[in-house]
Amino acid sequence: MSDHFLVLIPADPKADVPETAVALRDSLARLAGTNEARIKDYGKLQFIDCGENAERISCPSCEAEIATDQWHAWMDEDWHGEDGFHLHRHETPCCGSDITLNTLRYDWPQGFARWFVSARNQGRGPLDPAELAALEAVAGIKLTAIAQMY
Ligand SMILES: [Zn+2]
Repeated sequence: MSDHFLVLIPADPKADVPETAVALRDSLARLAGTNEARIKDYGKLQFIDCGENAERISCPSCEAEIATDQWHAWMDEDWHGEDGFHLHRHETPCCGSDITLNTLRYDWPQGFARWFVSARNQGRGPLDPAELAALEAVAGIKLTAIAQMY
């Protein structure tokens, strides 16, 4: 049995937990049909992954695949221990694009954030665009939806 979580992070990685976080958690829990939902505030930048749903990382400009070794090297460079991640600028080997780890294309979506809201679910699949829009209206900010499977 896999564990599935629907996770929401702010589209802006610098964003702090909004006052709407509790309402957002409760709305997400209703959508997921669970009362196992939570708000996690790291107080520093962390990578919010999608677990076993991770398939591919690519360049946002030319869509070339970013090699796992390259990505890990950038992750090591950007990791500042106690201080969490800093999103430094990097140049992609494929086409020389100026990127940060947060502007790379992650399939499935993953991202960097100081906090997240998550809800356990029975593998209902990712949020659809209408569901995400409704949750963004509750949050009052742009969100990135991540479907985690472990
Ligand atoms: Zn490229």
